[in-house]
Amino acid sequence: MINIKNNIQLLREKIIFFEKKYARPSRSVFLLAVSKKQSVEKILQAIEANQFAFGENYLQEALTKIHFFKKNYPHIPIEWHFIGKIQQNKTRKIAEHFSWVHSVDQEKIAQRLNDQRPEGLPPLNICLEVNLNHESTKSGVDISEVESFIDFCVNLPNLRCRGLMALPAQIQDFEKQRAIFHPLEPLVKKFKSKINTFDTLSIGTSQDWEAAIAEGATIIRIGTSIFDDRKI
Ligand SMILES: *Cc1c(COP(=O)(O)O)cnc(C)c1O
Repeated sequence: MINIKNNIQLLREKIIFFEKKYARPSRSVFLLAVSKKQSVEKILQAIEANQFAFGENYLQEALTKIHFFKKNYPHIPIEWHFIGKIQQNKTRKIAEHFSWVHSVDQEKIAQRLNDQRPEGLPPLNICLEVNLNHESTKSGVDISEVESFIDFCVNLPNLRCRGLMALPAQIQDFEKQRAIFHPLEPLVKKFKSKINTFDTLSIGTSQDWEAAIAEGATIIRIGTSIFDDRKI
């Protein structure tokens, strides 16, 4: 039987170990638990390990879970991150129910999220998804387009432009994983000097998170290493 609480505790210990190993500041890497296709029971087990940030890819599934926790556990301060592909007609619900969106890759999506963010909520934290030419999908903007995209987003008052995200296709070789992530950290640093909210590099999954930490990740997005196989 898998022990989710244990998996998270072990992962946290390893994160601290790799922060030291790669000369990263202590506590600079934040763990996002990717709960797509995992049940609310499994999410509750993660919460027992004081894990409160969850990443979801599929809007309908996510909304069901968000409503479940709002109704049954209103006192638990869960932070929901949308990390999946964004369809234009789904932006309103995303703007209403999430704290973060990692997978923004079109200006018109950013504009819609801004316009649809409800009054009274803090600005929506967004990351721009970058395509490193190693992706298995077509999502993400080219590195050459990052600057103009950020110039566009910083002027949207209901968004907080937090950083960059990438999801390269899975490969096994550690040095190759590092090489693929490598262009991102200098880019984050460059914009950080101009935009004070820009502090995030969201890279690394169960397959490549050590390489991601070595290359400057501030959020790693871990699913299967915490929850095991995806079912629902
Ligand atoms: C599913 C997913 C992850 C987590 O992948 P695991 O291999 O399960 O750790 C991270 N990021 C994104 C965007 C995902 O879709």
